[in-house]
Amino acid sequence: MATFSPDALAAKATDIATAGAEPISRKTACRLLRASDDALPSLLSAAQVVRARFKPAVITYSRKVFLPLTNLCRDYCGYCTFRRDPGEPGAHTMTPDEVMEVVRAGERMGCTEALFSLGDKPELLFPQMRDTLRRFGYKSTLHYLEAMCEKVLRESSLLPHPNPGLMSAEWLKRLSRVAPSMGLMLETTSARLLAKNAAHDNAPDKEPAKRLRVVEDAGRQKIPFTTGILLGIGETLEERVDTLIAIRGMHAKYRHIQEVIVQNFRAKGGTPMAHWPEPDRGEMLRTLAVARLLMPEMNIQAPPNLSDPHYADLLDGGINDWGGVSPLTPDFINPEKPWPHLDELRQRTEAKGFELRQRLPVYPEFAEKAAAHSDLLSERLGASADSEGYAQKKRAA
Ligand code: SF4
Repeated sequence: MATFSPDALAAKATDIATAGAEPISRKTACRLLRASDDALPSLLSAAQVVRARFKPAVITYSRKVFLPLTNLCRDYCGYCTFRRDPGEPGAHTMTPDEVMEVVRAGERMGCTEALFSLGDKPELLFPQMRDTLRRFGYKSTLHYLEAMCEKVLRESSLLPHPNPGLMSAEWLKRLSRVAPSMGLMLETTSARLLAKNAAHDNAPDKEPAKRLRVVEDAGRQKIPFTTGILLGIGETLEERVDTLIAIRGMHAKYRHIQEVIVQNFRAKGGTPMAHWPEPDRGEMLRTLAVARLLMPEMNIQAPPNLSDPHYADLLDGGINDWGGVSPLTPDFINPEKPWPHLDELRQRTEAKGFELRQRLPVYPEFAEKAAAHSDLLSERLGASADSEGYAQKKRAA
């Protein structure tokens, strides 16, 4: 194949996309990520051609409540404002009553997802967390999470989606009986970022091999799984492509990755990376388009609140989902970036020519896989999904 400049290659991208459904190669992806902003329209139109073949008319989102079960965490990622040490202002582990109070309020607002996001294994580092868990009657954070997922599943109309960090194969199995889907951001396959002063310095749970093992174990167990990349945390463009290709490879092997999140790094005051440069609009759109060309038939999501006020442009990059959006609870991971109002999200999505539909935490095409894990899940999914597998219209958008 002739060698084109990145811009010339981007100019041909629509022809390449129109000609065939084959994903692009690593080499092409790396070069397209270097295309200039002038070449962006061609690249975006290629991504739109590919998305139109996959899911032409509908953009989905999950109406959720965000439950920060505990913000104690044994890791110290350089960009994180969520985590706390015990005794720090804001350090908190939710009680079962607090969990159910938020869940009930979410039910009243038509939410269908209970997203449990929490720090990774805080009890291994902090005796205070061991005391809290003992007081609640649980041996570990994962035991407590499992019990809360089951409680939500049995006592409410919401479906849990836990994001607890690294899990063993046994824990994946246990949680898969009480949650139709779960997630772990791969973030990056670059082990370089574990080095001194890099983004994952002092974050042992961010070792890429360990995270890939979890994604693979979930695949072996046929668990609908959400993962994704965090772009702009110090990875090279090649490493970014390698991360996307690793996710694509896992899905090719096990067909279990229901959603790939492409999340842009945002610098937060008070963190070691407070002054780290953020990816700009062009870089985010290029990455989305390349992700779409690498993964023509996978659900790709980008969080709208991290690209406000121009988040509707993300649709031009070929995404087909907005992820979880809450009408009730803040984004505790990015509290300075409020989610858009759902009416506005719908208007902006429709203005781009799409229908906005509320999905469950598990995507329609993965619901059958989820239901196979327990009778309880099967029953609850049957009660929550409409005939196409989306969220039933109660107060749905
Ligand atoms: S990003 Fe997650 S793992 Fe890293 S410090 Fe924050 S809560 Fe812990």
